[in-house]
Order: sequence, then structure tokens, then C-alpha cells
Amino acid sequence: CGIVGIVGKNHAEQVIINGLHRLEYRGYDSAGLFVSDGKQEHLIKSQGRIKNLQEKITSEVNGTIGIGHTRWATHGKPSEENAHPHTSQDGKLELVHNGVIENFEELAEEYLANETFYGQTDTEIVVNLIASFIKNEGLTTKEAFQKALTVIRGSYAFALINNEEPDTIYVAKNKSPLLIGLGSDFNVIASDALAVLDQTHEFVEIADNELVTVTADKVTIENQDGEIIDRDSYQAQLDA
Ligand code: GLU
Repeated sequence: CGIVGIVGKNHAEQVIINGLHRLEYRGYDSAGLFVSDGKQEHLIKSQGRIKNLQEKITSEVNGTIGIGHTRWATHGKPSEENAHPHTSQDGKLELVHNGVIENFEELAEEYLANETFYGQTDTEIVVNLIASFIKNEGLTTKEAFQKALTVIRGSYAFALINNEEPDTIYVAKNKSPLLIGLGSDFNVIASDALAVLDQTHEFVEIADNELVTVTADKVTIENQDGEIIDRDSYQAQLDA
């Protein structure tokens, strides 16, 4: 299972598909991606091979920001509806997740008691939890994401897009891998550097429980207390 994302480059969908192919070795049962060009959004999912997903990407699918995912089902059967990205009920947030949220049922009961869900995944609860913090508590996307991270128990690599902010990807990890790749006028995220070596060789590590805000020209890492962390990048010595 794996995650790839990019912000600030045309044909985000192609970068994501190429990256997902390179993550196939990690194993998966379904795949999906979300891209936006700031006007038009596209959410495409498929069971089975990345090839099946690729075949659904028609010529009008063109993004300047996007996130993609290969799923290894832990909660909910492998199916198109359970494939990621998962969308909040208000249609605003898109979330991909690798890992397992242990307390998703408790969170659903406590915060989302009156809501119904289209699938069975732990991830769909998390995206609606973040949406509920935005809506009910007037938080920004980053604040709502940060708050969700304080109540979630489990392992995760998350990448989140609010489609009202089609220039930002929010990411966080705990016990699941995720890296930032630095480009010029664009940035990428990936579970494994291998997935994006055709885009960059310069990477920044993320530590558990940090929250990272990624735009085309800026990567901001914050710790749990909201303090900004300065971290040097490194050059990956691998061949693409
Ligand atoms: N727990 C999530 C699910 O079942 C993510 C699985 C994964 O790591 O791909 O959808």
C-alpha cells in the first residue's frame, strides 16, 4: 500500500499514476486518486490493478494538485467505494490513509453519531471527523486536522486536500512511512522516495506526530505544539 501526491505541476494525474506503479511492490487490492486544477475536480477509484485506474483517466482529467493511494484493506472489503481517497460528506475534503485507526468506532460514536457512511473504512470516519471540526468548531483545515490527530489512536500516513484550497496538501504520519520531495515550483509526497525519483532526488523526512503543510513553493513542518521545525533536506542516491 502507498501514497503519492503532488502540488504545483500540470498533469498531476500522470505523476501520481507513475508513482503508484512504482509502489506496486508494496502490495494492494485497489487504488484511487483525486486531482484538481482549481476549477474542476476528479475523483477516480478502481478495484484491482493500477492499470484499471489508469484506463479510467480520460483526457479531461488534468490536475495541478492531487493525491493517490494504493489500498491494502484492513477495515471494509476491497471495493471501489472503500478505495481511497475518501470524501467528507460535505464534499470538501479528500483523504488518503495507509495504516489502521484503532478507535474509529468510538470516534464515530462520539463525534459523528447522526451521520451515515458510504463505506466501511476507518479512513472515512477520519475525513468526516476533520470536516466536523471545521464545520462545528470553526477551525481551519490545519487546526481541524491537528485536532483530529490528537484524538486518533493508531498508525497512519495521511494526505489531505480541502478542495476549497486547491494549492495545499496537509500531511502527517505515525508509524507508517511518508516523505516530502522538493521540486522547483512544485513539491511531492510519497511513501517511498522510489515513487517520485523521476521528479526529484531531494527529500525531507517527517517525524511521527508532525503536521506538514505542503504548497508548490513551501514546506512547513510543525510539531504537536505548533512550533515550526527547521529540517535539512537530503539527496537520495538511488537510481530512478
Ligand atoms: N485502514 C485503511 C483501509 O482499510 C487503510 C489501509 C491501507 O493501509 O491501505 O482502508
